[in-house]
Amino acid sequence: MELLRPSSADEATAALGNGSVPFAGGTELVPLLRDGLVHAETLVHITAAIPRGVDGSSIGAGTTLAELEADPQIPQALREACSLAASPQLRTMGTLGGNLLQATRCWYWRLGFDCWLHGGERCVAKDGAHREHAIFGNELCASAHPSDIAAALVALGATLRTTQRELPIADLYRLPTADNRDVTTLAADELILEIEVPAADASTYLKAMDRRKWAFPLVGVAVARRGDEVRIALAGVAPIPWTLDAAADLDAATPLPGTAYKVEIARALVRRALEGVGG
Ligand SMILES: Cc1cc2nc3c(=O)[nH]c(=O)nc-3n(C[C@H](O)[C@H](O)[C@H](O)COP(=O)(O)OP(=O)(O)OC[C@H]3O[C@@H](n4cnc5c(N)ncnc54)[C@H](O)[C@@H]3O)c2cc1C
Ligand code: SF4
Repeated sequence: MELLRPSSADEATAALGNGSVPFAGGTELVPLLRDGLVHAETLVHITAAIPRGVDGSSIGAGTTLAELEADPQIPQALREACSLAASPQLRTMGTLGGNLLQATRCWYWRLGFDCWLHGGERCVAKDGAHREHAIFGNELCASAHPSDIAAALVALGATLRTTQRELPIADLYRLPTADNRDVTTLAADELILEIEVPAADASTYLKAMDRRKWAFPLVGVAVARRGDEVRIALAGVAPIPWTLDAAADLDAATPLPGTAYKVEIARALVRRALEGVGG
């Protein structure tokens, strides 16, 4: 395997495509390579090629979660989402860009089952163990998006700048369809460079998890308020970060037999988060 260390985004982009893969902190990519879920002959180490650090409302995609959770310039929902994610060691290595692009934690997928998201015929989780799975958008794949940080950024109305375009963070994600099973809209040779996070009057992130530390969200609820406008986004409830217009949207959930409990958790967390931001 070849490891490239480009020093600019242009150089890194030129090295991408043809089966090469961007590599930042490696906390997600290395296990996927080890388990044969990602195949690459060339890794493009992008740490020196993409922005890192916080400059007002702009955050470099190479900024680590540990740097974000400690920075007072960062809105509260994003700081809380970072501090509740993973473990201190992982947050020290893991970058913002890599967190937004992490793959599903569905263990059928991680164990290489020939399930629908892997190109197979059906979602095996629906008939199998699915306690951690989705309550929305789960018709074809019932996986639950694992990123606390993505939900916080969706609620905050963040914008991404990539090597090819600017887009609202919500547009980074797509529900997989029969003809395209990708869950992001990022091209293979496209890098996330920066995330612009507008200030909010108040914001918060609440997370239900199996352990109080080092656990993915069963349900994560991010709420941001600007004046009378309140935005709500959830982690752990759909194959992508999920937006609600209001708490009442939870009535439209389509839980599986083993995930109905998540609807009740989401109701409680949304209510508490709205109270927390004065919404
Ligand atoms: C045990 C464990 C527990 C975890 N718990 C949580 C949790 O509770 N909540 C949570 O939100 N997350 C959790 N995570 C995820 C963790 O935060 C991510 O693994 C980490 O942030 C990924 O960042 P990285 O820099 O290591 O990414 P990498 O592993 O380097 O890359 C991940 C993916 O992103 C791509 N990539 C990386 N940067 C860019 C970029 N700038 N542009 C384009 N593509 C890019 C890579 O090609 C790869 O596909 C956990 C991870 C582990 C291993
Ligand atoms: S939830 Fe998605 S990833 Fe998991 S088994 Fe079903 S199709 Fe595969």
